[in-house]
Amino acid sequence: MESTATISNKKDQQIRKFGEIIQMIRNIFSTPTDFIPLHKPYFGGNEKKYLEETIDSTFVSTVGPFVDKFEEMMQQITGAKYAVATTNGTTALHLSLLVAGVKKGEEVITQALTFVATSNAIAHAGAVPIFVDVDKDCLGMSAVSLRDWLDKNAKVNSEKQCINKNTGNRIAACLPMHSFGLPLQIEDIINVCNEYYLPVIEDAAESLGSYIGESHTGTFGLLGTFSFNGNKTITCGGGGAVITNDETLAKKAKHLSTTAKVPHKWEFAHNEIGYNYRLPNLNAALACAQLEQLPAILANKRSLAQLYKQFFKNTDIEFIEERTGTTANYWLNTIMFRTEEEQLAFLDFTNNNGVMTRPAWKLMTELPMYALCERGNLDNSEYMVQRLVNIPSSYRP
Ligand SMILES: *Cc1c(COP(=O)(O)O)cnc(C)c1O
Repeated sequence: MESTATISNKKDQQIRKFGEIIQMIRNIFSTPTDFIPLHKPYFGGNEKKYLEETIDSTFVSTVGPFVDKFEEMMQQITGAKYAVATTNGTTALHLSLLVAGVKKGEEVITQALTFVATSNAIAHAGAVPIFVDVDKDCLGMSAVSLRDWLDKNAKVNSEKQCINKNTGNRIAACLPMHSFGLPLQIEDIINVCNEYYLPVIEDAAESLGSYIGESHTGTFGLLGTFSFNGNKTITCGGGGAVITNDETLAKKAKHLSTTAKVPHKWEFAHNEIGYNYRLPNLNAALACAQLEQLPAILANKRSLAQLYKQFFKNTDIEFIEERTGTTANYWLNTIMFRTEEEQLAFLDFTNNNGVMTRPAWKLMTELPMYALCERGNLDNSEYMVQRLVNIPSSYRP
C-alpha cells in the first residue's frame, strides 16, 4: 500500500506538471492571466465589408451573390465539382443521407466516437445508426472494425443491397467522421464499403483544410459535408455545405434544400417534401470573407500544433499528430493521457485555472436515444474517451 506521504508527493508532482502545461499555453497565447477559450473565431478580413454590402443590397436571405460565391469557393478549396450551401452541418448531413438514398426504417453505419450531430442526422432521415470502432491513431472510423461488423452481421442480397442479418433491414450508407480534423483512413473504408455496396458519406465538418495526399477530406466518398458553426476552423455564424462530384446528387441536394421548388417565373410549384435548408446570403457573406483567410488561418493553426508537439515530446502525455501522408487542419489540438484518473484531474485543474479544455464526446452508445443501437466491439473508442483532452486551439493574431 502506498503511504500517505507518497500519495501527496505524487499529487504535488502532478500539480507541478499541470502547472507547467498551463504556463506553456499561457505563453503561447500571450495571455498571462485572462481566460483562454478552447476555440474562438477570428475575423481579420472582409467580414464587416461583405456584411455591410449584403445589408445595403437588401439581399440578406437565401438568394444572393454571396451564396453562389461561397459555393464556388468551396468547390475551389476542396476540388469537388459541386458544392451546395446549407444552414448548418447537421442539415448538410441530413440532405446528403437523403440524396444518397437513405430511407425511413433503414440503417446507417457510423462511429461511436463522434459529435452527436452525426447520429442525429441519421435519425432525422428516419434511419437507425449502427456504431463501429475508431482507429487509435486518427480517431476516425476503423476499417478493421467496420469489416468485422459487416462480415459478422451483414449480407449482400441478389439486388446488391446490404442487409442487416439481425434486423432484416437494408443498411443504406456508411458515415465516417474525420475527428478534430485528423484525416481518417478513408480509402480503406471505401474499399470495405464497395464490397458491401454501401455508399460513403464523409462527415468532414471538422476537417476543412485537411488532406489525404493531395485530396481534400470529403472528396473520397459519394458526398462530403462541412460545418461553419461558431467553434469550427472558420465560421459564418451558422452554415454548412455538401460537396460531391455527382451532378445529379448536387442538383437533388440543392432542390431539397430550397423547399423543392420547381423553377418558374411566378408560380409556387413544389414537387416533393422539401426543406428550408439553404444558407442565407448574410451568413454566406461572412463565410466568403472567412474562406479568403483560410490559408493564413491553417498556417497559424499548424504553427500552434508544432509548438504543442515540441512541448509534449518531453512529457509522458502524447500529442495526437496527423498520420503520415495526410495533412490535418489541427482544428482542435488533442492530447492523450496515460490514465483516466490523470485525464480527469487535468480537466479539473485547467478549467479551474482559466484555461478551457474539454474531453472528447461521450460515446454515442452512452446517450439515452442511441443506447439500444447495434454496435461492434468499441475497445478503441472506450480507451480513447477515457484519455483524450482537447486543448486551446484558436488562431493567434
Ligand atoms: C460541428 C459538427 C457537426 C454539425 O455541424 P452544425 O453546423 O453545428 O450543425 C456535425 N458533425 C460533426 C462531427 C461536427 O463536429
